[in-house]
Amino acid sequence: THFGFQTVLEDEKVDKVYEVFKNVADKYDLMNDVMSAGIHRLWKDELIRHLAPHGGMKLLDMAGGTGDIAFRYLNYSNSTQSAGADYREVTVCDINEHMLKVGEQRAAQQGISRGINWLHANAECLPIEDNSYDAYTIAFGIRNCTHIEKVLSEAYRVLKPGGRFLCLEFSQVRNSLLRELYDQYSFQVIPVMGHVIAQDWHSYQYLVESIRKFPNQETFAQWILKAGFSEVTVTDMTLGAVALHSGFKL
Ligand code: SAM
Repeated sequence: THFGFQTVLEDEKVDKVYEVFKNVADKYDLMNDVMSAGIHRLWKDELIRHLAPHGGMKLLDMAGGTGDIAFRYLNYSNSTQSAGADYREVTVCDINEHMLKVGEQRAAQQGISRGINWLHANAECLPIEDNSYDAYTIAFGIRNCTHIEKVLSEAYRVLKPGGRFLCLEFSQVRNSLLRELYDQYSFQVIPVMGHVIAQDWHSYQYLVESIRKFPNQETFAQWILKAGFSEVTVTDMTLGAVALHSGFKL
């Protein structure tokens, strides 16, 4: 039946995404630097600046992988706060235990143990009580999920009233000529880099395709509103190649 077919496709996506991140886990951080020429660091810094972590904040970093957002969040220092007065907590959640393992190793290497915990779970169905977190971040993770509306409604459910949702994701370059060039770069160069650096053409081919399939800034903002969030805003980065969506549970 139509629905049976749909289920097979959905199961395939879950398995494929799992395989991709299992395969790339060890090389994931290196590949991010190479493919984006280090710019992913600036995008992530910008997310943290928008979040403006403060003392007592409880963050859920969904699809947190190897911990990039969590480490920035814990290391963020605000000149108006005195040292020690800004204890904050983060839960790094990911469906892939291989990515989390690399994250835990990185945390140990950096001497980070306070305020961080690791949760192996699916963003679409979280083992977390309602109204638990002050903020929810998801960076380059939501396009890998099968049912994005479930991810958004779970985000809404686990946030406290007043809580903030922030999503960093690849989006649509606004200028059509530049978009064409960027498409050529990603389709032709990224899988080759994946092959050369990680001996894995297919995983990187998948990543590029998933970026193309993801909705543009305005459509995604509508989905966030539909999940119940208020004050939804979009901030373009790097000409729209990446967008930061923000919303509040009011
Ligand atoms: N947030 C990290 C960063 O920005 O470097 C990692 C991003 S990585 C591109 C995408 C992550 O999404 C992977 O670690 C993958 O396992 C995770 N992921 C995919 N589907 C998921 C789901 N349904 N629930 C939770 N995590 C998921």
